[in-house]
Amino acid sequence: MEFSVLADSFNKMESTRKRLELTQLLVELFEKTPNEVISKIVYLIQGKLRPDFEGIELGVAEKLAIKAISKSSGISIKKIEEEYRKEGDLGYAASKILEQKTQTTFLVEDITVERVYETLFKISKLGGSRSQDMKIKYISSLLNDANPLEARYILKILLGSLRLGIAENTVMDALAIAFSGNKDNRKILEYAYNVSSDLGKVAEIIATKGLERIKKFEVVLFNPIRPMLADRVKSEEEAIGKMGTNFAAEYKLDGERVQIHVEGGKVVLFSRSLENISNYYPDIIEKIPKAIQADNAILEAEAVAINENTGDFLPFQELMHRRRKYKIEKAVTKYPITVNFFDILYCNGKICLELNYKDRREKLEKIVREDDFVKYIPMTIVKNENEIKDFLENSINAGSEGLMLKMLDKPYQAGSRGSNWLKLKREYQNELGDSLDLVVIGGFFGKGRRTGSYGTLLLATYDEDEDTFTSICKVGTGFSDEDLDQLYQILNPKVTIKKNPRINSEMEADVWFEPELVIEVVASEITISPIHQAAKDKIRKDAGLALRFPKFTGKIRLEKAAEDASTNEEVITLYKGQKKVAHDRNLI
Ligand code: AMP
Repeated sequence: MEFSVLADSFNKMESTRKRLELTQLLVELFEKTPNEVISKIVYLIQGKLRPDFEGIELGVAEKLAIKAISKSSGISIKKIEEEYRKEGDLGYAASKILEQKTQTTFLVEDITVERVYETLFKISKLGGSRSQDMKIKYISSLLNDANPLEARYILKILLGSLRLGIAENTVMDALAIAFSGNKDNRKILEYAYNVSSDLGKVAEIIATKGLERIKKFEVVLFNPIRPMLADRVKSEEEAIGKMGTNFAAEYKLDGERVQIHVEGGKVVLFSRSLENISNYYPDIIEKIPKAIQADNAILEAEAVAINENTGDFLPFQELMHRRRKYKIEKAVTKYPITVNFFDILYCNGKICLELNYKDRREKLEKIVREDDFVKYIPMTIVKNENEIKDFLENSINAGSEGLMLKMLDKPYQAGSRGSNWLKLKREYQNELGDSLDLVVIGGFFGKGRRTGSYGTLLLATYDEDEDTFTSICKVGTGFSDEDLDQLYQILNPKVTIKKNPRINSEMEADVWFEPELVIEVVASEITISPIHQAAKDKIRKDAGLALRFPKFTGKIRLEKAAEDASTNEEVITLYKGQKKVAHDRNLI
């Protein structure tokens, strides 16, 4: 398939944000796509080469791309950098530059989607000392044969700056229309996606084998399942209102969610955002096979740091000491954990998602054998507010965050947030009090004691409609010296020359970061703001929402992707909830 077909589609898609138009453009593209390349096209649309859980990263830095453009065009690096600064996007800058170039050269070889994809794939595999030169060689050879529009999109994919604003649901709508003639069949595709986390694979199956085959989609071991998520409630009373008077309450432990795939001695671990995190937990890899009484299984657990002497749970940030490439063994002994199981999704070759909670918990307790390292999450059945209160108290005393409340007769809904699971944290019980997970988008250099670090950070919520990150506050309190050091180490490689186009902020920062890191903050209140962009125009015209007195809680949420951060919808709900509390107390 000619790459120009894809580049033309990308070009049209970039000029609209309307979901219906994007769907139509995708349908037209899919109809032109041969079956053998459909999965590649679906990955490329999302700016990827493979599903996220395979961890394939292109890892091409702007500087390297600039060298490659220079090599293929013969134009100096300085000139390219100037053009880049003018355009604000290297893809556009490259197409401008190559427009000058193509007048003097002729195209050597047509560029196909397959060739671009294979080359990008090779680049992603390169490592070691000579890899930079090889990357430049591969990129410039593509650019040599590319027309300006193609070059623009090759670079955007390489740099991870292709942002078409196409949500997974939109891709599924288009696949359903293109290959089954009916948008309503998206529901069937959604199931397949939720249990495989691989949209390319879903596309390939519907294109080559049809809808009937998708209906029989099987869970595959070592392919992560998209996790079920919980709604939040603020009080025991609200929980009873939503769940009735007979449901399970589990401790909500403050650790990292781990999806454990095991068969024989082979164990693979996935995080909540479906990243392969096996390397960080060699202790789980080693000890789990002995604890599992089944040929194979997919289980969910919360890994929690513990105090070795007392067995008490320690806060989440202790786990982050394990987020390192080297000397992980040392971290494993210094920061011991327990693995606390709470669900079973697959067992002995069979899916368990359809089983209700009660049956899954029973199965879990049959399959998993407890010991010092392996535990079940404490659970009890509750029937009234007092029973919830008592169990919440116990849970907090044991060092956990609160409770997860789960309907007994409901299945596991992969990939969805709903009211079959509710979370009740103690902090939700006071006014705003709720913590928010926010994306770090900018930094301000520290002064005094904080020189050499970012003393204050600019934070953003996730705007799901626009697929952007909207500023909501600056935060400069709650940081220990150690936190500032650690944040500096993490954030420094994320500094960009230009503000990423997905960042929506009127406030200027000293430096801009790639919007990737998520941290947790608490605040006293949400207020209307003329400067911040979160929920702009939603509560008041020409104004957004901001956090008042935000404070870092000490939690760097490395397990969350930027798109998992608190959304503007959530902030609006909190804002309205806070007004209601004030109203109920006759404060307004
Ligand atoms: P939150 O990150 O606040 O949305 O809370 C959801 C997270 O709580 C999950 O992703 C798990 O990491 C964690 N968690 C702790 N205990 C449980 C439990 N008993 N059941 C499910 N999730 C739990």
